[in-house]
Amino acid sequence: MTNSKIWLSSPHMGGAEEKYVAEAFASNWIAPLGPNVTGFENDISQFISEQLEYKVAALLSGTAAIHLALRMLEVTPNDIVLVQSFTFCGTTNPVSYEHAQIVFIDSEQDTWNMCPEALETALEKYKHHSVKAIIPVHLYGMPAKMDEIMLIADKYGIPIIEDAAEALGSKYKNQACGTFGLMSALSFNGNKIITTSGGGALVSKSQHYIDQARFLATQARDEAPHYQHSQIGYNYRMSNVVAGIGRGQMEVLDLRVQQRRDNNKRYRDYFKGVPGIIFQTEPTNDFFSNYWLTSILVDPAITAGISREDVRLILDKQHIDSRPLWKPMHMQPVYEGSSFIGSGICEKLFEQGLCLPSGSNLSDTDFDRIFSALDSIFK
Ligand SMILES: *Cc1c(COP(=O)(O)O)cnc(C)c1O
Repeated sequence: MTNSKIWLSSPHMGGAEEKYVAEAFASNWIAPLGPNVTGFENDISQFISEQLEYKVAALLSGTAAIHLALRMLEVTPNDIVLVQSFTFCGTTNPVSYEHAQIVFIDSEQDTWNMCPEALETALEKYKHHSVKAIIPVHLYGMPAKMDEIMLIADKYGIPIIEDAAEALGSKYKNQACGTFGLMSALSFNGNKIITTSGGGALVSKSQHYIDQARFLATQARDEAPHYQHSQIGYNYRMSNVVAGIGRGQMEVLDLRVQQRRDNNKRYRDYFKGVPGIIFQTEPTNDFFSNYWLTSILVDPAITAGISREDVRLILDKQHIDSRPLWKPMHMQPVYEGSSFIGSGICEKLFEQGLCLPSGSNLSDTDFDRIFSALDSIFK
C-alpha cells in the first residue's frame, strides 16, 4: 500500500503490553491503582536513575502532572510563572487553570529551548513581584541548558518545574531529563516516544511531593471511613489497565530511543549537501537527545526560495504527515497582550521550522516514499 498515510509519530507497541493488560483483567484489577501502576512507577524510577533516588506518581496526562506541581507550589492568581514560550499548550494551560500570570521566555539558538539570558532578564525585571516557578521544556527531546538555567533559578530562589514530556530517554551531562526540576513532568500521550494511549507522570526526589500528588490526584480524600475532604482535589490518577501498557512500553524504551536517533541520522544523510537546511542539533557532547521528532529549519534565502511550507505541502500531497514547529505561546490568540522576554528567536524558529515523520515504526519503504517526495523539490 503505497498510499497509506505516513504519520508524524504513531504508537509503537513492543509486544509485552498485552501480557500486562491481560494480567489486570485476569485479576480483575481494572480499577485505579494495583500492581501495574506500582510496577510502572518503579520502572520509570529505575530508568531515570539506577539509584532509585526519584519517586514517581503515574497520572492521566503530562498536563495533569504540571497542574499538580503548580498546585503544590501554591501558585495563585497573584503569582507569576516564567514559561518557555516555544512549547505545546500542555505546558501553559495548567498555569492558566490556576489563573496565574505567565511571562513568556524566549528560546536560544543552540537548543531552541529556554534562553538563560532572557530568563535572567525576566527574573531581574520581576524581582519585586511574586514569581513562583520557572518552566523550561526539552523540545523534541533536546535537553535545555539546565546547568545555566538552574544556576540562575537558584540565584533568585525560584523552583523549577521541568517539562520533560518530550524528553524521556534524553540526557544532559549524563543525567536523565525529568530529574532536574524540583518536580518534573513526563507524558505518555499517543504521539510520544512511548505511550500508554494517554498518560503522564510526576517525578520528584521528594517523597512528600509524590505523596501529595497521589493524594490530590485521587480527589484529595482525607483518611476517614466516610468521604471527607479538606482540600479540592482532582481525578488524575492512572488506571491499572493503562499502566499495563506502560510496563510493556518501558521494556522497549531504550530501543525506541535508538530507533528515533537512527531516523534522525537518515534525514541528516539525506540532506547532506543541501544548503539552507538546519537541524536541531546537540550543541556538544553534554547533550543527548532522544530525537523524539527530527526537526529542521528551512531557510528560503539559502534554499533558492523553497520554504518550510513548500516542504510540508509536497509531503502532504503524498499522504506524508509533517508539522510546523510549535507556535510560540505568546503569539497565540489566547495569550494576546501577554509579556514576552527576549529578542524573538522562537518566532524565527516557528517561521522556518518543520517536524519530519519520526516514528520508531517507520519502515525502509516509508523512508523511500519520504525521500522520493523530498527529491521532487530538493534534487
Ligand atoms: C505532550 C506534551 C505535554 C502534555 O502532555 P499530555 O500527556 O498530552 O497532557 C506537555 N508539554 C509538552 C511540551 C508536550 O509535548
